[in-house]
Parts: sequence; structure tokens; C-alpha cells
Amino acid sequence: MPLKVLILGGSSEASALANAVAGDARFDALLSLAGRTQTPMASPLPRRLGGFGGAHGLADYLTAERIDALVIATHPFAAQMRRNAVAAVRLRPTPLLIIDRPPWTPLPGDRWTRVPDMTAAAQALGETPRRVLLTVGRQDLAPFAAHTQHAYLVRSIDPPADAPAGAELILDRGPFIEPNERRLMKAQGVEVLVTKNAGGDATAAKLAAARALGLQVVMVDRPPLPDLDSLDVQVVPDADQALGWLSHQAGSATDRGV
Ligand code: NAP
Repeated sequence: MPLKVLILGGSSEASALANAVAGDARFDALLSLAGRTQTPMASPLPRRLGGFGGAHGLADYLTAERIDALVIATHPFAAQMRRNAVAAVRLRPTPLLIIDRPPWTPLPGDRWTRVPDMTAAAQALGETPRRVLLTVGRQDLAPFAAHTQHAYLVRSIDPPADAPAGAELILDRGPFIEPNERRLMKAQGVEVLVTKNAGGDATAAKLAAARALGLQVVMVDRPPLPDLDSLDVQVVPDADQALGWLSHQAGSATDRGV
């Protein structure tokens, strides 16, 4: 019997893993998405959209669907989903893997101001009016609304509901490349970039562009991983290592005659 795998997606690593396991007879995999974007990326795997109803809902789902292995491959800032998934496997023991892509780290020439959350990011912009490029996602714009002295340029995949008043909007989806990011920042007179520390290659070009232009970057640190104490869980940085873990799980299941 193939290993029944649930992948909690929302990241490029989830997409890469979906591509890697699709068509592999050892796996019967399903990709779960929150449904945050109007047009989710195409996937070769069957997909389900929307929440499970908290940790208990997910635990019930794992049981009902007889899931053999759970992979948390969410965006690094989808902290609630990660917490729920860890709580769910405590309720319904299930082999668990977390893909946690490495965060970005500053390079020589970077002018980063690191902050713990979006409220602190808005405060870090200071009192002096500035031209600010916000690339924090459309769900996290509310704290900037109170800081009306700044001129905001917001980039997101779908239109935000609560952009600061007067903000200009760019609808776009990565991957982005450095020359285009530099051109955009120059043409728009950007003085400071605000970003989450998502890590990965797809959206790192903005950091290189800010570095080249000598711009300040307000970098929002990641939420920590949930408490994994006493759980048998692996944390890997990418889809390749996740595939290795899944292959091992499939091999163990075959040995057990599952
Ligand atoms: P979240 O706060 O971690 O999750 C909120 C709820 O959404 C979860 O409790 C769950 O609902 C549902 N959910 C999240 N991921 C899911 C998945 N893969 N499959 C099924 N249900 C899922 O995540 P968020 O609200 O989506 O986003 C939080 C932060 O992550 C934001 O800063 C956002 O910009 C960033 N982010 C998220 C995604 C994404 O695909 N989710 C992508 C890029 C960036 P139930 O409790 O009902 O199960």
C-alpha cells in the first residue's frame, strides 16, 4: 500500500515536494492549502483548500483519512497552522516532518533593522515621512495604517483589504530578479523596505537591490517553531531532504507490512 501523506502547503518547498512525490507509486499524497490566494499555484497532487477547524479538527482528519505521515511545509510565518499540526500529532500520533527553510542573514553592506513583529516594524519607520515599500503580505498591513506620515507602496499577490490610506499598490508574485527590483525601488523613490524574514530564493532579490542602493531594510523576525518537546519529529531545510524522510517512512511501512 502506498504511504498516505498529507502535505500542509503554502511554500515553494511544498510545491517542490508535491512535484517530487506526484506519480511516485510509493506515495498517495494530498496537498492542503489555506486558500489565501485567489489563484493558487498549479499542483500535480490532489488538493484540499481551507482550514481543518483547529488542532482537534486536524487530528480527526488524520484519523478519518488514515494519514500515515504529516509534512508541515507551510510558509515560515504560518505559525498557527504549525502549532495546530504539532498539537494534532500529539492527539493522534503520526510521523511528522517540518520543512523549515533557513532564514535570510545579513551580508556586508546590508542596513537591516530587525524587529520582532509587524507592530514594531511600523514603529521602526520613525516619525520622519518616508517612501516605504511594504512586502509583508496582504494580511499584515494593519499596523501601518496608524503611521500616516509615510508614503506607502504595497506589493502583494492579491489586493489587500486593509492597506494604509493612500497606499499605492503593485500586484505581483515572485520569483523576482535583482535588476528589476532595483529599477522598481529607484523609479518609485523607495527609501526603506519592510519585509518578513521568509528566507528562500524566490523573493531574496529585493534584499540584494536594497543593499546595492544602500537602503534600510526593516526585517521582521520569524515566529519560533512550536514546542517539539518529546515528539519524534524531523526538521529539514528543503524538499530534497523531505523526500529522503518520506522514502524512509515508505520503506519502514513496507517492512512492517503496512
Ligand atoms: P496561520 O495563521 O498559520 O493559519 C491560520 C489558519 O488557517 C489555520 O489555523 C488553519 O485553519 C488555516 N490554514 C493555514 N494553513 C493551512 C493549510 N496549509 N491547509 C489548511 N488550512 C490552513 O496562516 P495564515 O493565516 O495563512 O498566514 C499567516 C502568515 O503566513 C501571514 O503572515 C501570511 O502572510 C503568511 N503566509 C501564509 C501563506 C499560506 O499559504 N497560508 C503563504 C504565504 C505567507 P484551521 O485552524 O481551521 O485548521
